[in-house]
Amino acid sequence: MTRPRVVVAGLGDTGLLTARHLSRHVDVVGISTKAALVSGQELGMRLARPDEWAREYLIGFDRYRKLDGVRTVQGTLDGLSLADRVVSVRLPDGTSQTEPYDVLVIATGVTNGFWRRPDLQSPREVATALRAAHEQLAAAGSINVIGGGAAAVNAAANLALAWPETRVALYYPGDRALPQHHPRAWGTVSGILTRRGVSLHPGHRATVPPGFELDHITTGPVAFSTGQPDADADATLWAIGRVRPNTGWMPESLLDEAGFVQVTPDLAVAGASGVFAIGDVAATDPLRGSARNRADRLLADNVRRHLSGQPLRTYRPRRRRWGSVLGFQPDGLRVFTPSGRSFRFPAWSIQTVLQPWIVRRGIYGGIRPDDGGAR
Ligand SMILES: Cc1cc2nc3c(=O)[nH]c(=O)nc-3n(C[C@H](O)[C@H](O)[C@H](O)COP(=O)(O)OP(=O)(O)OC[C@H]3O[C@@H](n4cnc5c(N)ncnc54)[C@H](O)[C@@H]3O)c2cc1C
Repeated sequence: MTRPRVVVAGLGDTGLLTARHLSRHVDVVGISTKAALVSGQELGMRLARPDEWAREYLIGFDRYRKLDGVRTVQGTLDGLSLADRVVSVRLPDGTSQTEPYDVLVIATGVTNGFWRRPDLQSPREVATALRAAHEQLAAAGSINVIGGGAAAVNAAANLALAWPETRVALYYPGDRALPQHHPRAWGTVSGILTRRGVSLHPGHRATVPPGFELDHITTGPVAFSTGQPDADADATLWAIGRVRPNTGWMPESLLDEAGFVQVTPDLAVAGASGVFAIGDVAATDPLRGSARNRADRLLADNVRRHLSGQPLRTYRPRRRRWGSVLGFQPDGLRVFTPSGRSFRFPAWSIQTVLQPWIVRRGIYGGIRPDDGGAR
């Protein structure tokens, strides 16, 4: 008997995990513009300590043991026919192919800044871009970080840690940064930033230069629509949360007015039988937090339930953001709960317990050592 075929569109943080849960039960085809997981997590570590970041967050698909049965296709999705149940993919050589599905999981994420782009990239191109951003910031005597969300705060903290001589300034529009976290989280994080010498500038809404795509680190002064004087710096990092869903390849009837995929509480796509969505692209709730809330297991279960005609389970979003804000630090990894309290994995446990046992074995089901290939 032939097994059902599940196409996972986008093998980023959450598509990969969904594929990993399904691979033993159905035929899985994973389609992605990258040949590796290029995680959207930990911007600051990526910029300040790119080798360390790559070890944890840039990992070739061939290294995941649980993806062994998954066929991966590197290419750009450019069409979806609900009537024929196929997606079309443009391959790196310019040719196209179609992939039929019984179930389609949409996990193409969002475009954000220069660090989360949907472009087709080889591992070498990913590595070159990583290094270029790091070198530009390493050479700067002063850095503006624009934005108040977790990516901006994470970047400011990690850049100041890596280069204590560099003047790092954080500009954000509200009274406090991390507005989607519990206020207690900002209380803790702002103390750490201040101790690292980051200057904090609340009430500053930067003006995005006309025509600027937010796709690179800029040089020159930043202007503010809130009336303060321009802020000059050698380098400016824009992390203003202006995300764009990667859904240009899908029929508009499946999208909300902002272009995110409309889903019902069980992560099924409204009006498209056998189609599901997860991660930053899925309009589950205002925070679109199904990736960080680890809905991948529930979704994989719902895919199997759908295929066997059973009722689907419901995803319950959280009202506040939670998780690690600063990433790995010299004293370990601090994780903030939705109530703004935090607990910390001590530094000694990161490479002895957390990464090898909880993340690599527990979450991903085993990752082979890097042989220097795709990583
Ligand atoms: C284990 C885990 C821990 C996390 N911890 C935290 C945390 O502590 N704090 C926090 O704030 N967040 C955390 N997050 C969430 C994280 O910040 C983001 O929400 C997550 O990176 C989004 O994943 P995604 O799969 O939706 O998107 P992405 O990881 O961006 O994946 C999308 C993929 O689709 C590809 N793609 C896009 N368009 C196309 C196309 N047309 N054709 C083919 N491929 C395409 C992209 O290239 C990319 O590879 C965590 C997530 C996970 C899974």
